[in-house]
Amino acid sequence: MRYSGLKVIKEALTGHKGWTPAWRDPEPQPRYDIVIIGGGGHGLATAHYLASVYGEHRVAVIEKGWIGGGNVGRNTTIIRSNYLLDGNEPFYEFSLKLWEGLEQDLNYNAMVSQRGVMNLIHSDAQRDAFIRRGNAMILNGADAEYLDLGQVKKEYPFLNFDDARFPIKGGLAQRRGGTVRHDAVAWGYARAADSRGVDIIQNCEVTGFRIKDGKCLGVETSKGFIGAGRVGCAVAGNSSRLMAKAGMRLPIESHVLQAFVTEGLKPVLPGVITFGAGHFYVSQSDKGGLVFGGDIDGYNSYAQRGNLPVVEDVCESGMAIMPMIGRARLLRMWGGIMDMSMDGSPIIDRTHIEGLYFNGGWCYGGFKATPASGYAFAHMLARDEPHHTAAAYRFDRFRTGHMIDEKGMGNQPNLH
Ligand SMILES: Cc1cc2nc3c(=O)[nH]c(=O)nc-3n(C[C@H](O)[C@H](O)[C@H](O)COP(=O)(O)OP(=O)(O)OC[C@H]3O[C@@H](n4cnc5c(N)ncnc54)[C@H](O)[C@@H]3O)c2cc1C
Repeated sequence: MRYSGLKVIKEALTGHKGWTPAWRDPEPQPRYDIVIIGGGGHGLATAHYLASVYGEHRVAVIEKGWIGGGNVGRNTTIIRSNYLLDGNEPFYEFSLKLWEGLEQDLNYNAMVSQRGVMNLIHSDAQRDAFIRRGNAMILNGADAEYLDLGQVKKEYPFLNFDDARFPIKGGLAQRRGGTVRHDAVAWGYARAADSRGVDIIQNCEVTGFRIKDGKCLGVETSKGFIGAGRVGCAVAGNSSRLMAKAGMRLPIESHVLQAFVTEGLKPVLPGVITFGAGHFYVSQSDKGGLVFGGDIDGYNSYAQRGNLPVVEDVCESGMAIMPMIGRARLLRMWGGIMDMSMDGSPIIDRTHIEGLYFNGGWCYGGFKATPASGYAFAHMLARDEPHHTAAAYRFDRFRTGHMIDEKGMGNQPNLH
């Protein structure tokens, strides 16, 4: 069924009797050409591009819970491509371009809103660093704009410009960045993949791999064995636990990251703002809530909830740049499990086991990567070679020392 304005009007006039389920609920078949583990954004996007671009239709996505229940439905919805390094910027710009055409590609309203992202500048040294990053973005075909103090004041007059510790001196804006309704991304990819024959199997946990003579033959699940020609793992925060079942130890740690939403307010924030002297990012949802977040909780965990010290830290950062936030009541908060890699950049690669492929290490930033990650992983699974925008995201960079360390923090996942 194609969704359209006409269809909405017709259904409104005829009692909404013509809507059908957006995807099927099939039982697993004994064997698929490709099995993807993880029905998050990345797994579902991979299935969509496998079917729509690479002609692979005998594909299943295996999800232990329900689709959208993981980080894809828990993030703060920000998309952008404002990276510095060559290994990253072309990939994230490819992703932003895919976001720009996503709703037409999926025939689904994912509420892609290019309302702009602005990184606030708080010192002269930071201005130099941000302008350098802006130039790298422009050289890679992205958009970037330096805003002086007067321009920032005009767009965001309520910010705390003269704070003695964190004075605001300007901003680096990416106008094509913005927000997307996160769970609609999971639903849109699921519907599009299902319509091309992909089986989406929910409430089915992968409990192990069947590996013989160095080759992966399929997956053991709570619904029995499912054979597969190739298996792609895209389970985000659960990456280390899943790959341990194949005997692999990853350069990844799992940490909790929390998100916060206030009560609904009248429109106040036109775009996304990030605090350059601390760690805080905020936007306003279409329902009016301020949606914000900050640092990870800083200890290893697989619990999808966080603790109070980080709540205090995030709220302090918010108060530092935007004191009026102190008047808003916090309505909801939750946590998700981040797969933090040692250099802060992801991995899309084959493993040493034939037929077993891995996608993970997205840290804080995997939501904006969803389309390109799905595309590049589909390419890897279909062609057994890296997509040109993701060529640097290999396992062996941790052995050869070719890190993609955007923040220059070294191998400290808790700082990325
Ligand atoms: C609070 C928070 C805020 C964030 N904000 C942003 C942001 O603003 N911008 C941004 O770009 N990124 C953001 N991120 C990061 C982003 O959400 C993640 O990097 C990204 O969603 C991870 O990929 P995914 O969608 O595939 O993960 P998930 O949705 O977590 O999908 C993985 C799936 O694998 C399933 N799974 C796990 N183990 C198994 C198993 N054994 N068998 C079967 N299924 C299994 C899980 O149930 C889960 O559904 C944020 C994350 C959090 C938690």
